[in-house]
Amino acid sequence: MPNHPVSKTYDSFIELVRRLFGEGNVSLHRPIFEGNEKQYLIDCIESNFVSSVGAKVAEFERRIAEFTGARHAVATVNGTAALHVALRLAGVQRGDEVISQALTFIATCNALSYAGAHPVFVDVDRDTMGMSPDALRRFLSEHAEVRDGGAWNKHTGRRIASCVPMHTFGLPCRIEEIAAICAEWGVALVEDAAESLGSYVAGRHTGNFGVFGTLSFNGNKIITTGGGGMIITNDELLARRAKHITTTAKIPHPYEFVHDEVGYNYRLPNLNAALGCAQMERLPWMLEVKQKIASQYRVFFESQGVQMATPLSRCQSNHWLNAIILADKAERDGFLAYTNDRGVMTRPIWCLMSELEMFRLCQHDGLENSRWLADRVVNIPSSVPDNAAKPADA
Ligand SMILES: *Cc1c(COP(=O)(O)O)cnc(C)c1O
Repeated sequence: MPNHPVSKTYDSFIELVRRLFGEGNVSLHRPIFEGNEKQYLIDCIESNFVSSVGAKVAEFERRIAEFTGARHAVATVNGTAALHVALRLAGVQRGDEVISQALTFIATCNALSYAGAHPVFVDVDRDTMGMSPDALRRFLSEHAEVRDGGAWNKHTGRRIASCVPMHTFGLPCRIEEIAAICAEWGVALVEDAAESLGSYVAGRHTGNFGVFGTLSFNGNKIITTGGGGMIITNDELLARRAKHITTTAKIPHPYEFVHDEVGYNYRLPNLNAALGCAQMERLPWMLEVKQKIASQYRVFFESQGVQMATPLSRCQSNHWLNAIILADKAERDGFLAYTNDRGVMTRPIWCLMSELEMFRLCQHDGLENSRWLADRVVNIPSSVPDNAAKPADA
C-alpha cells in the first residue's frame, strides 16, 4: 500500500467496514432472513411435508431454472452432492481424469474423488481467479491426444473425461473460451457455479455453458437453504436422470419400492427448499445491495492504491465475496492479523488443492498464478448489511 503508512490505510478500512456494517464483530458473510422464510417454514410444518416429499422442492427448482435461464433444475442436499452427480452423468467413470483448478474450495475436489476421478490441476488467470483457457489449451496440447471421440492423457493413459472450472467468489471466469476448448477436445464441461448464483457472462447466467452447472446454498453462500445444492442443465434427458439417481433411483409407484440402479439419497428436504423459495424472492434485491457495497469498496481501495478483484467487461459478478490482492504474503499476514484483532473478519483465499496431502501427487502445470494469488488474496466482509434499505414490497 504505497504512499500511506500501513496502519493509516488499515484504520480507514476498518472505519469503512464500520460505516457499512456497524459496530461489533463483523463476519465475512452471514445469511439474511427478512422475507417469507418463517412463513414458508411454518407452512411446511403445518402441512406435515417437511422431508423428501412436498411442493416446495418443485417450486424452488422452478424458481432457480427461471432465474438462471436453465431449462431444468434438480435440487440436492448440498453443492458437493450436486457436483458428484453432475460428474457421473457427464460420463465420468472411476479411473478417469478430470481437469480442474487448484485454487478452489475443497468441495470441488471432494466431488471429483467421490466420482472416482483423478484430479488434474491447470492454472487460473490472475484477473478472474478462475481457470485460465490458455493454461487449459496448453495442457491439452502438451499432454493429450484425441482418440475415439475423446481426450486421453498420453502420459498416464487415462481418459480426460471432464473439465470443471469454478467461478471464484462470483467472478465469472473466461467460460466461453473454456467451453470452446472443451468442445474441440471432446471433454464434458461441468461448471462449479457454487459461488456464482447471480453472475453472468454476456447476459448468460453462469452454469449454462456446459453439460451441467452446479450451485450451493450453504449457510455462507449468496442465498442459503441451511444446506442445499442444485444441478442445472439444458438437457431434458440428463435432468430426468439427475432427478432419478438423486432420489434413490426409485421407479414411480404409489406404494411399491422398486429401484433400478444404485442411487443416492441426495434429495433436498422440503423444509430447506421452503427457505430457498423465500430467499429467491429477495435475491434481486440482495444483488443490488451487494453491488453497492462492492462499489464503495472499489472507490476506497482505488484511492489507496490497493488492487481489488473486478469482473471482466461483458461479465457481471454477484459480488458474493469481495476480494483484494495485497502486495505480498507478509503484507497479507499483517492485514489479516490487524483486521481480525479488531473484530473485522477477513480471510485468506484457500490453500491450493495441490498442497493438500490427498492431492499432492496430482498432475499440474506449475500453477504460477494460483500460487501468486494464494499468497496475496484476502476476502473482506461482504454481507447484506442489517440496515440496508428493504425492497419496495417489504
Ligand atoms: C460452497 C462450494 C461448493 C459446494 O459446497 P456445499 O457445502 O457442499 O454446498 C462447491 N464448490 C465451491 C467452489 C464452493 O464454494
